[in-house]
Amino acid sequence: MTAHIIDGKASAATLRERVASHVSHLKQTYGITPGLAVVLVGEDPASQVYVRSKEKQTIEAGMNSYEHKLPAGTTAGELLALINQLNNDPQVHGILVQLPLPEHLDEMLMINAIALAKDVDGFHISNAGLLATGQKGMVPCTPLGCLMMLREHYGSLSGLNAVVIGRSNIVGKPMAQLLLRDNCSVTMVHSRTQNLAEIVSRADIVAAALGRPLFIQGEWIKPGATVIDVGINRIDQGDGIMRLVGDVDYEAAKNIAGAITPVPGGVGPMTIACLLANTVTACCRSHSFPEPAGLTA
Ligand code: NDP
Repeated sequence: MTAHIIDGKASAATLRERVASHVSHLKQTYGITPGLAVVLVGEDPASQVYVRSKEKQTIEAGMNSYEHKLPAGTTAGELLALINQLNNDPQVHGILVQLPLPEHLDEMLMINAIALAKDVDGFHISNAGLLATGQKGMVPCTPLGCLMMLREHYGSLSGLNAVVIGRSNIVGKPMAQLLLRDNCSVTMVHSRTQNLAEIVSRADIVAAALGRPLFIQGEWIKPGATVIDVGINRIDQGDGIMRLVGDVDYEAAKNIAGAITPVPGGVGPMTIACLLANTVTACCRSHSFPEPAGLTA
């Protein structure tokens, strides 16, 4: 049996339509346009691609996009001054500082300088705390996108066994918190975990975010399980052509899993759509407008 392929592109398109429709409602009803400020420091090529894509999709959704491209040699003081200016700008509802920052800049210091209500990446320490304690905050985009796809697939996640592979602050930990909040029984594993294959083989949901190309073997997957592959790895499979692959051996896993996200075309497109959704949520909260359904967890 071949798994149902979870189409992240289609889910992202639906979410973007929902975002655009609410943006139009905010403009018509209140004369307010949600605004997202994106700060890019330096010339990292992958970051430049991500930032261009975020700006394009922000504008396509009818929102304002404010770009701030700073040289690699920007000082901590200069970056903090810009973040402070954006925190105080009423046209800006969401602020995203593109990571990674150049080495001389302290990422956590910069993220925690963003006003909590404008932290649309959900990386601020207080947003992490709100998520961990089951309170309303901004939810990190990638795990939020994964959760939305899982809810769309299952309806209720209650009682399912989930394994989250990877414990980073931006993917693994918030993913586990979200699954726990949706009443899954969650196991978190990492590079020191023993019996990884055995733990994976018990899971109804496998969320892989380890950054190791094709590491999770098809034969580890429980028949019928749902596999969410967060990994984005660029590899040469022997023919000199660079390809994007996930953390899961997709070709093998798709013959055993019940449902699986492809790479590319799975989690990736949902991440930016969730950033747009978070910006609309932040805008509604800042004005105490009713929050639209289906844009957050
Ligand atoms: P990190 O490198 O920050 O974290 C990787 C995690 O995986 C760590 O917790 C590490 O364990 C764990 N790990 C590494 N090797 C193994 C192993 N052999 N067995 C079990 N666990 C292991 O990565 P990120 O969380 O930032 O990203 C993970 C992947 O997701 C990457 O491929 C990244 O490109 C992708 N990504 C995709 C996004 C999207 O939009 N689709 C967005 C963000 C990330 P330990 O803590 O012990 O070191």
